[in-house]
Amino acid sequence: MKLKSFLKKQNLIPFCEKLSEKFEIYLPVKDISNNISDFMEWKEYVRLTEGKSEKNSSESQVEINLTERTKKSIKSLFFPPVEKLFDFAIKKNLQHPETTDLELADSVKNIASQSTGERKKIILGIKPCDMSAVKRLDRIFLNGDKTDAHYMSRRKDTIFISIGCNTSSQGCFCTSVGGNPFDFSDSDIGMIEVSDGYAIVKVDDKSAWILEEYSQFFNEDLTNNYDDKIKQIIVSAEENLKNFLKKENIEVNDIPAVMDEYFKSEIWEKITAKCISCAACTYVCPTCTCFSISDESKELSGERYRCWDFCMNYYYNLEASGHNPRAEIYQRYRNKINCKFNYNYKRSSSFYCVGCGRCVDVCPAGMDIREIISIILKNNKNILKK
Ligand code: SF4
Ligand code: SF4
Repeated sequence: MKLKSFLKKQNLIPFCEKLSEKFEIYLPVKDISNNISDFMEWKEYVRLTEGKSEKNSSESQVEINLTERTKKSIKSLFFPPVEKLFDFAIKKNLQHPETTDLELADSVKNIASQSTGERKKIILGIKPCDMSAVKRLDRIFLNGDKTDAHYMSRRKDTIFISIGCNTSSQGCFCTSVGGNPFDFSDSDIGMIEVSDGYAIVKVDDKSAWILEEYSQFFNEDLTNNYDDKIKQIIVSAEENLKNFLKKENIEVNDIPAVMDEYFKSEIWEKITAKCISCAACTYVCPTCTCFSISDESKELSGERYRCWDFCMNYYYNLEASGHNPRAEIYQRYRNKINCKFNYNYKRSSSFYCVGCGRCVDVCPAGMDIREIISIILKNNKNILKK
């Protein structure tokens, strides 16, 4: 990875300020009072920190944090937890009382051509695992004639400036599922944090104008020996991220076959015994996309909403008849793992787990998806040898 340009740390805030004149900027911000980090719009960050010192945490409750992976995932920027899909009105047809027409509000009939914001988005500081997750969300929501207009209106024209992971969180395992802490292949610009700034190591052709237009913030004097520093950072970060499948001498592509073969194994009950089905793991997951639809209506008009829903919830699986095909926790957990490592792999040749580790970090019962996969595979090595 070759150094292409350099953004000094002291230039980060002025760079964002200047960008925000033309773009909607989002970047990772940590709330120091509760240790929760999430992507925040630049104007909101400015509002929260105005007149306060960035360095003094007792004055400023939030700080930009490009080093750690955010606790919340990027998906809510494009696929919010709750969103109104449209207003509707029910029209009775007196000639045909057995039928009812649903009339949509004009404003939503052509939502695909609308944008939720007036300006293009720039996401600065997205980690490679979240970038991979966005690619998976795209496959689901931007799918030819099944494209989701609401997702499209938020996602289109977004520019991604990624930052590599010099250190990983306790639950991270991207290298075990085909990722890498410095994989910038899906990003427009890729950068690596070094001591005094951010080394720009990837700029794709359609984003090169950013470095030109905002050249006052970038250092073209690259005589410092950053290339060696970058190499050291990459080697040490990759060494720290243990590949749990390699340790067991298991190939990641073998997982779907084992999942099929051992779907009915009683091992699922044993390994999910700790799970309390709280669904926190699915809430924080950047690739979980299940939702439910509900109508808030009054008399003959109303609003239709889409809300995140989770396959770990008992009620998600409950059918109108009262039968629940996944009444037991182990059945729901097995479905979740199969969705990520089997069903979606068969559809798209990609795992729908990017190894971000959020589910490991958040689980109140200490469930660890890495252990679950390892146990299943270790118990079934005989399949792998067939
Ligand atoms: S695995 Fe953990 S976070 Fe997920 S539903 Fe079970 S207890 Fe909750
Ligand atoms: S399953 Fe867990 S590790 Fe995998 S993408 Fe979802 S939250 Fe991240």
